Amino acid sequence: MVERYDVVVAGGGPAGLAAARGAAAEGGKVLLLELQAQIGGQTQSATWVPADVITHPLKESIVANMKEVRLHSRHKELSISGDFGAIVDRRLFDKFLAAEAVASGAELWVGSPVKELLVSGDDVRGVHVEAGDWVERIESELIIDATGARGEWSSLLLRKVLKRDWKRELLALSNEYLMVNVTNDQSADLFFTSYFAPLGHAWVYPFGKRFAMAGVQGVRIHPDAALDEFIGRRGVPRLERAVPVAAFR
Ligand SMILES: Cc1cc2nc3c(=O)[nH]c(=O)nc-3n(C[C@H](O)[C@H](O)[C@H](O)COP(=O)(O)OP(=O)(O)OC[C@H]3O[C@@H](n4cnc5c(N)ncnc54)[C@H](O)[C@@H]3O)c2cc1C
Repeated sequence: MVERYDVVVAGGGPAGLAAARGAAAEGGKVLLLELQAQIGGQTQSATWVPADVITHPLKESIVANMKEVRLHSRHKELSISGDFGAIVDRRLFDKFLAAEAVASGAELWVGSPVKELLVSGDDVRGVHVEAGDWVERIESELIIDATGARGEWSSLLLRKVLKRDWKRELLALSNEYLMVNVTNDQSADLFFTSYFAPLGHAWVYPFGKRFAMAGVQGVRIHPDAALDEFIGRRGVPRLERAVPVAAFR
């Protein structure tokens, strides 16, 4: 059976959930399709957001408030105090956004990867969703690609509709570890050292009382090796007795 919607949103990250909420609030029949088995199941789990984007009930996803940022470069250290927003647990944050989208009237399917764009000439007609033996053809003339920078489908849309490709190797690569045994305060450490420069950096964010997220991001780095090098270095504040207990790639 062919399903029909006014708007189909591919991808249940913050962009897709906000788009679905907005379109449904305007009265559209909206379907959001998420590849993973749960909303908020994506790789990275801690996100630093400005205070003004966190409205109730998103507040419940806060794991730390940020009152200080320490910047570390090869030759200089700088500490700045102020209200720097909060660290939220993305697994919860995204689920609260999903609740808002559903409350606005959007339909939400998880475990539903968009595998193909249905195109007729230059017009988009819908999407093809497939998982194992389950196949669904969904028609809509408005498809919102919110599959994120890593989505295979993002480049499919560019290739099929805009007739151009993009260079995946220019994507910044990143890895994060959840570290335990951390001495935390309400601060973030950001590292802009020659190891990651010019197109990358590393960070340590508090994540609850004894946990922290330690991550690296950069173009043309090997994120596994760079993260191990980063947390293994002597002198990274707070991480001296810490050990990784989860990896997010
Ligand atoms: C390690 C790391 C740390 C970060 N830290 C911060 C931070 O501190 N603060 C900040 O503001 N930002 C941070 N970001 C960036 C932030 O995560 C992104 O900007 C944000 O997630 C983008 O949201 P999005 O909805 O566009 O995409 P995403 O969050 O990537 O969501 C895309 C969704 O689409 C789904 N999807 C993919 N393909 C398909 C398909 N074919 N069919 C259906 N669904 C599909 C995915 O499963 C995913 O759920 C960080 C990113 C990384 C990688």
